[in-house]
Order: sequence, then structure tokens, then C-alpha cells
Amino acid sequence: MENNLSIGTLTASPGEKIQGMLPIPHTEIEVPVTLVNGTGDGKTVLITSGIHSCEYVGIEAAIQLAGELDPENVNGSLILIHPVNVPGFESRYPTLMPGDNKNLNRVFPGSQEGTPADRVAHFFEYSLYSQIDFYIDLHCGEIFEDLTPYVYYVGAADETVSRAARQAALHVDVPYMVKSTATTGAYNYAGVLGIPSILLERGCAGRFTQEEVNADKKDVINILKHLGVLPGAPELRHRPVDLTDLVYLMPKRHGLWYPDVKVGELIAKGQRLGEVRDYFGKTLDTYHAEYDGVVLYQSATLWTDDFCELITYGKFAETTGMTR
Ligand SMILES: [Zn+2]
Repeated sequence: MENNLSIGTLTASPGEKIQGMLPIPHTEIEVPVTLVNGTGDGKTVLITSGIHSCEYVGIEAAIQLAGELDPENVNGSLILIHPVNVPGFESRYPTLMPGDNKNLNRVFPGSQEGTPADRVAHFFEYSLYSQIDFYIDLHCGEIFEDLTPYVYYVGAADETVSRAARQAALHVDVPYMVKSTATTGAYNYAGVLGIPSILLERGCAGRFTQEEVNADKKDVINILKHLGVLPGAPELRHRPVDLTDLVYLMPKRHGLWYPDVKVGELIAKGQRLGEVRDYFGKTLDTYHAEYDGVVLYQSATLWTDDFCELITYGKFAETTGMTR
């Protein structure tokens, strides 16, 4: 059965690739969308980037994939959005939607009557999730964060959905993977609705390199091969190690942040992670690791407050047998 692929005002016939700006209903936002309707039957996969506005590695990877993917090679269809938070991207306004200061990855499910972020989330549910079989969301550290690459897969979902997401995450070439328990993110809520979904984190600090972009593209292509949407067997590569019990460490008091560790660094229980000082150099609070683990990302700005975690770290799952 060959079918047209339609999102709002854009339609791609079988064997066709369509690119254009798509108005999000009931908002003033238009997002760049690429529809790739394959020549063969198969799954429909959604690939988004820039849900957080200044996460450039994922955004550039999605733009390049949108240009390069050829409907002749595709079994099924692909929907790419590059980026989602266009107002934030164009104003270099990190993380939030400028129209309402909401984090799009905390507002799902949305509402047609709500603020712009709520309406974008509502559009995702009714125009995108209603027709997809799998979802890959490309992120990276924001302009104020350092980050080591890792991948999340949905955990707040039916066991079969979570397992399918995990199987795909195993094809991502990063050191670590995390089963997410959240429900209000774009990919999380897709999981709640029964769509296996993953979120890839690579790159940070408002920069991107072609090397990182290539790594993102290779991961997406590998997953599309695993799902049968692209021909050929997925490359068997390094298998990410499971991390659990993530600590998203928030500052007790606002101030200036002086970390003792770097992202990707292995840490030991009780190890000092850093301290927050006041403007006169006086120590306000010091922070120590709750367990042996690894630092995934941390605040890269001198100032710290409730906007961003000081450090996020995870523990090696029992089964991996890895310790410091
Ligand atoms: Zn993000």
C-alpha cells in the first residue's frame, strides 16, 4: 500500500521528498520540515531537533540528514523538523520558548488553548504522534552546559515499547544509556502513547563540529537500518553502558560555581564535586558524590541558580559490573 505522507499544509507522494516551512496551528510559529516518503513500505519515523533552541549539533545533523536522505532508499517515511523552537533559535535564547518562557520538554501533553509551547506540544500529539512508529529526538548540552555523549530511552511506557526503544538505543555509538522515567518531554510523552522513542545527547556549549554532526548522522542512519527504514544491516559498534539513579544536583543557594570534576569523569562516593561561593570568594556550599559513578553534564557558567543543574551524574547499573 502506497500512501501520501501529510503534515498540515505539506504533502509528499510516494517516492517524493518535500521541504518547506510549516505553520503550527494557532501560533505565529513556522518550523522547517522535511518529509521523505519512501518508495517501499515500512515504518514512519519522526526525527526532531532544536526542541531546545541552542543545541546546535542535533539541529545541524537534522538539517544535513534532511538534505541527504533519498526517498529511493527509504522503506516507510521520515518526518524531520530542524529545528522545532525556531523563535528561540533565531533569537539565540537558550532552552525556552521566547513567547511564554516554557521549556518545551516539560509541557507534554500540550493544549490547543494554552501558550505557544502548549500549542506546539498539542500539534506534536495530534499531527505527528498519530502517524509515527518511532521517534528520535536530537539534543545536546545547551550553551551554558558541558556534556559527555549519551542516550535516553523511554521508561514510563509499556514494557514492549520501552524494550523496542532500548533496542534502538543500543545502536547509538555513545558510552552511556539511561532509561528515563519522565513523562512530560516530547519523546517521553510519545512513549506514554505507545511509540518507542529515544533522545540523543551529543555536543554542548553553543558549538558544533562536523565530527559531532557526523556522529549524530551515523547514529540516526544506524537506527533507521535497525528499523528497516534504510537498507542494509546496522553497524555493530560499542554498546552503551546502562546508568541508573541519576542525580540532577541543583544548587542549595545561588552563587558562583567552581566544579572540581569534568564531564565524562568517573567519580567515587564522597568525592568533592565542587563548591558554590559568593561574590567575595566565601564558600556557601560544597557538594559531594552520593555514589561511585560518572559525570554526564554540568553547568559551564560561573553563575549558578535554579535554571540549570550544577552537575548530573549516574551510577553504573549492577549488571554491567563496572565500578570506579
Ligand atoms: Zn535538550
